[in-house]
Amino acid sequence: MNAQYIKIKNHIDGEWLETSNGEYEPLRNPSTGAVIGEVPISCQEISRQATAAAAAAYPAWSSLPLPKRMDYIFKIHRAVEDNLEMLAQAIAIDQAKHIAEARGEVSRVIEILQMACSIPALIQGETVQGIANNINGRLIKAPLGVFCGVAPFNFPALVFGWFIPFAIGTGNTFVYKPSTESPLFMQKMMQLLVNIGLPKGVVNVVHGDREVVEAWYEDNNVNGVCLVGSTPTAKAIAEGCGRGGKKAMLLGGAKNFLVAMEDAPMDLLIDNILMSGYGSAGQRCLAISNIAVVPEIYDEFVARLLEASRKVTLGDALNPDIFMGPVISSAAKERILNYIDIGQEEGATLALDGRNPKLPAENHDGYFVAPTVFTDVTPCMRIAKEEIFGPVLSIIKVGCIDGALRMIRNHDMGNGACIFTQNSYYTEKFINEADVGMVGVNVGVCAPHPYLPFGGIKGSLVGNNKVQGKDAIDFFTQSKVATVRVVNPKGNNAAAKPADANVRSCVAS
Ligand code: NAD
Repeated sequence: MNAQYIKIKNHIDGEWLETSNGEYEPLRNPSTGAVIGEVPISCQEISRQATAAAAAAYPAWSSLPLPKRMDYIFKIHRAVEDNLEMLAQAIAIDQAKHIAEARGEVSRVIEILQMACSIPALIQGETVQGIANNINGRLIKAPLGVFCGVAPFNFPALVFGWFIPFAIGTGNTFVYKPSTESPLFMQKMMQLLVNIGLPKGVVNVVHGDREVVEAWYEDNNVNGVCLVGSTPTAKAIAEGCGRGGKKAMLLGGAKNFLVAMEDAPMDLLIDNILMSGYGSAGQRCLAISNIAVVPEIYDEFVARLLEASRKVTLGDALNPDIFMGPVISSAAKERILNYIDIGQEEGATLALDGRNPKLPAENHDGYFVAPTVFTDVTPCMRIAKEEIFGPVLSIIKVGCIDGALRMIRNHDMGNGACIFTQNSYYTEKFINEADVGMVGVNVGVCAPHPYLPFGGIKGSLVGNNKVQGKDAIDFFTQSKVATVRVVNPKGNNAAAKPADANVRSCVAS
């Protein structure tokens, strides 16, 4: 698969499109910098063609009996399970996520699909009997029409799982725009959807940049847009959706804290920081970035972290024996190196410099940054405030748990935060007071299980809708309430007496 030239294609109304509008961007392997294929940069006309196809597919798809629609979700689940390795390889090739982590990402999608299989239970409505004589109230959860989704580069499979099974399982149709930096997963996934016989137009894929998305705001075929991406992108889409009157689910960027208390289990703490801070080369929305450490363990902690960080091996993402792959692009590498300069200018101590890593010869042109650790960081430095999205850790000395909680509260972002401690007072206080959407206790990546919602607060979530769990059902459905008078065809159905206040309020209003 690695040696083949990869031609990414749009998929609209059941067809792979051989051309877009003629413009293509090179697709690169971040482990080597080599061009491995091309991605269409589609124009707005193609974007609208896709939403028209989704709108045309909607009436038949939404009126399909629920068990038949669920049959497709079960088949998608089986297809992902049967093709786990092929899908993981796709992620490791263009996103250069370490192959073990890519397998983990696809495994998580399988769990999400299991959750989506419970849509028939979660989509059930409510009935209130007897709100007046012979009158009942009923709430149903109905699909809306066409949803469109926009993915970030760093979780091509996970974000497919967060959006598509829930959107189509609840009866909507979908247009998906993957990131131009990691489109290969969705190319493979779309082929699997074709193979299981998903009706044409139910899922469409359009590749390209912001233009594809901007076409949706004023498009009458579109009912809602969802994004996982950076906060500026989430805000731009919120504005467009607000103007166009579209529903929106917008997960934004992050800057996550880890708090290490004096009783932190040290081996577990260091192992988790390696995974959380350097896994996916620090390009995770739940990656640890700021580490707040109390004075009692500060020196030992710094020494242990530096020793472990120096041992991190770098190389090709498809090599299972290395620990960490590259970052996504040369631009991302430049941005991270720039933050390392900023940290030094701000007066932090560069305790471990990852700017010139030792690499295998074939990876010399890849986009690598090795583990980098700053000490003597203060919360007001830019390296502590802004999302670096690379393997750079900032260590901040903090007097006690209240100081750590204050830093978390004062930060603009609120995706995740975790604490390492054996003390139940610290644990409960942290769960209650850490001002973030996802909390971890003695776990470095506090990603909730698919049965529970995933999402941050403050700058990490624009609006109020999170992915996964019951929240996904709420987003992809609308509540409709019916007021039903049961009429007896043979009986006396005289109008309600004016004295019956309940009847007056519910029938006359
Ligand atoms: P990005 O915001 O640059 O791009 C995300 C997607 O939005 C891409 O498909 C891109 O083409 C599109 N896009 C970019 N600008 C746009 C605009 N103005 N209008 C419409 N669409 C636009 O993000 P990225 O670099 O691909 O991914 C990394 C970011 O995503 C980080 O900030 C990370 O924290 C965040 N992220 C968040 C979560 C979460 O759960 N909150 C999960 C994964 C990634």
